[in-house]
Amino acid sequence: MSEPKKSIKKRVLPLLPLRGLTVFPYTTIPFEVGRVKSIKALEEAMLNDQLILLVTQKDARVESPGKNDIYKVGTISKVRQLLQLPEDNIRVFVEGISRAEVGEIIQTEPFFKAEAIEKLYTYNDSDESAIEMEALRRRVLSAFEEYVRLSNRIPPDIALSVMSIEDPGRLADDIAQNIMVNVNLKQEILSEFNPKNRLEKLLVILLREVDILEVEKNINIKVRKQIDKMQREYYLREQLKAIQSELGDKDGITAEIEEYKEKLKAEKFPEEVEKKVLKELDRLAKMPSGSAEGTVVRTYLDWIFSLPWCRKTEEVIDLERARAILDEDHYGLEKVKERIIEYLAIRKLKNTLKGPILCLVGPPGVGKTSIAKSIARALNRNYVRMSLGGIKDEAEIRGHRRTYVGSMPGRIIAALKQAGSNNPLLLLDEIDKMSSDFRGDPASAMLEVLDGEQNFSFRDHYLELPFDLSDVMFLTTANTLETIPRPLLDRMEVIQISSYTDEEKVNIAARHLVPKQIEFHGLKKSNLKIDESAIRDIINYYTREAGVRNLEREIASICRKTACKLVSKKTKTVKVTSSSLEKFLGPHKYRYDKANEKDEVGVATGLAWTPVGGDTLSIEVTLMKGSGKLELTGHLGDVMKESAKAAVSFIRSKAQQFGIDERFYDKYDIHIHVPEGAIPKDGPSAGITLATAMVSALTGIPVKKSVAMTGEITLRGRVLPIGGLKEKVLAAHRAGIKTIIFPLENKKDVEDIPENIRKQLKFVYVENMETVLNTALAVKREIHLDRSAGTEEKEFSIVLDSTVSAESSNAIQTS
Ligand code: ADP
Repeated sequence: MSEPKKSIKKRVLPLLPLRGLTVFPYTTIPFEVGRVKSIKALEEAMLNDQLILLVTQKDARVESPGKNDIYKVGTISKVRQLLQLPEDNIRVFVEGISRAEVGEIIQTEPFFKAEAIEKLYTYNDSDESAIEMEALRRRVLSAFEEYVRLSNRIPPDIALSVMSIEDPGRLADDIAQNIMVNVNLKQEILSEFNPKNRLEKLLVILLREVDILEVEKNINIKVRKQIDKMQREYYLREQLKAIQSELGDKDGITAEIEEYKEKLKAEKFPEEVEKKVLKELDRLAKMPSGSAEGTVVRTYLDWIFSLPWCRKTEEVIDLERARAILDEDHYGLEKVKERIIEYLAIRKLKNTLKGPILCLVGPPGVGKTSIAKSIARALNRNYVRMSLGGIKDEAEIRGHRRTYVGSMPGRIIAALKQAGSNNPLLLLDEIDKMSSDFRGDPASAMLEVLDGEQNFSFRDHYLELPFDLSDVMFLTTANTLETIPRPLLDRMEVIQISSYTDEEKVNIAARHLVPKQIEFHGLKKSNLKIDESAIRDIINYYTREAGVRNLEREIASICRKTACKLVSKKTKTVKVTSSSLEKFLGPHKYRYDKANEKDEVGVATGLAWTPVGGDTLSIEVTLMKGSGKLELTGHLGDVMKESAKAAVSFIRSKAQQFGIDERFYDKYDIHIHVPEGAIPKDGPSAGITLATAMVSALTGIPVKKSVAMTGEITLRGRVLPIGGLKEKVLAAHRAGIKTIIFPLENKKDVEDIPENIRKQLKFVYVENMETVLNTALAVKREIHLDRSAGTEEKEFSIVLDSTVSAESSNAIQTS
């Protein structure tokens, strides 16, 4: 747009400072005047041509403003009318004529007189300017329309008359006069002599106002809704009260509180609990019915009343009876039963529960839970089980404070509610599976629970009341001791339950599992006969476990099939034999490793312990020409890899005694593989097996097929003890192994192995690798190997003559 032309006009006029008000040109406005100086200025104006300069004060509170207290631009106005009001006040009607800058102040007393400088802008009527101005004008108009619609404060006739103004500068002034914004903003518009700039400034102000009004409107709608809802609820509640009183019924809450008080009388409660309940009832009485907080109090009270604060069952400690019950429920487990009876005897003598907590440790399915149940039955205590597996958060044990939404007591309190007495036997299952994270350490909460010195006042965060746990008999179970936090373990007396032999499993099935499942499935004893051979096959081909849980499951499955057959009336008795087993349970699920068919070079049988019992582990070693790389495959863990390296170093250091080329390590790559490759394996106990397989591969002497071994190896060739001997021996026996090599230090564990199995096996206790090799290798040799002996049936052979190098003799070859 081209620059407008500016013309300036100056005149001297009386000046009147305005408070909290802006007068724009072309508008007529009334206001009241009280200050003497202002009245004098008005009088002066009336004596001349009624013109006066109206300038807004920056701060309306200033009583006698100076030049700096007023804005720089005001409006030359014509006084249209004066009206005398009481107390010397005057009401003035003025009409704005034009804006003017305040120039020199000519006088300040008895009234202000100042120079008013008018600046007139005239645009040449070029098309471009006109279009731009018109666009701006329309934009301002539409914003103003929006403003009028939202604000609801401008009467429609005024709005209409404003909108019909053509002149842009005037339009801006009229709108500015009518909108509700503060004096500063209005002054900004007034101070702008250039009409185009004035419109632009106004537009910014208008748009902002529209935004604010929009938000205000939304808030209004929300508030209105809220108020409506509250009023409605209040009204309904009042109505309800009116109806209740009309019906002669007591107020709902009062009746409820009476009910709680009855409950409080009906049973014995500790004093502290009684006090707390009364306090909560007091709070409840003061709450409006149906309030959310009321529900929280009710839930809390219901919890308190559901707990066995003083309820007990009569405990019986009768050792004979306990023994009979344990025997009735469980086959075998002699040592375990013995330990339990001893424990109970001491309990009876000391007549207190303080002291160590029993912890039954063993693989899954060996009867830990069911022994706990039997103990509870023997002692006439209620039984509850609480699983600790996967608990990470202390709050799960101790509960959340009531301030949390949806808070509840912790598991201990929940278990007591379930028990219904305050002296149950509480089985803490899987205490080894508890872990801790950032939400706190559950183990330390457990410590407090188990500590006889502290647990008489166990505090749950939710209850906020002490609960006496000193009569609760705790019993824990775990699969392994390794992951139980040390301080917890220190408080426990561990009873190990090891895995069952096949023989024991057969007996448990015949005496307990089959009758139990027959009864559970509603059958009669005569309906189902399972052969012993069939049970053996279930054990061997359908389950692979240390305990009997899956065995019980498979028997249950046979019972279901039997029930079907009986109901369809095809038969009265179902007989399950080894040969008909597949019809009931489908094809075999497992096979067992059998001992090798023949003596082989580079293959030795090791023994492994797994959580589901023992297993055999065949270790294969192959040599290839190469540069001394050691390759290990079969998903081996770090410890096992290190054992293999230790075995290699041991063999290197003794190469001469074994009659192996001392530099074998530079000439061959050794590959060790342990099938089944997908199953992870780890642990140091395969050390001697790895060494044996390697020596066999290097010397070409086969390993006897009937020998299995387990033991850790040191660099000096000493053999160190291992764990899980019983399971390992059972696995070897099952696989048809005849001789088992194991560390001398494990000799003490042999007595855990059932007599009948011990009789069928030969045990070789070893302290060093020499004995291992002399027992395991198929050809007995002096330390200096006799080259001709036993080489014919070998698959590999190493020529150990120092004059002929192994390479040049082409001595190593796969057959
Ligand atoms: P765990 O708690 O050790 O995992 P369970 O107690 O759940 O094992 O035992 C699984 C099933 O096996 C139960 O039905 C239990 O009665 C039964 N059971 C285990 N051992 C024996 C046993 N020695 N005599 C009789 N039944 C047994």
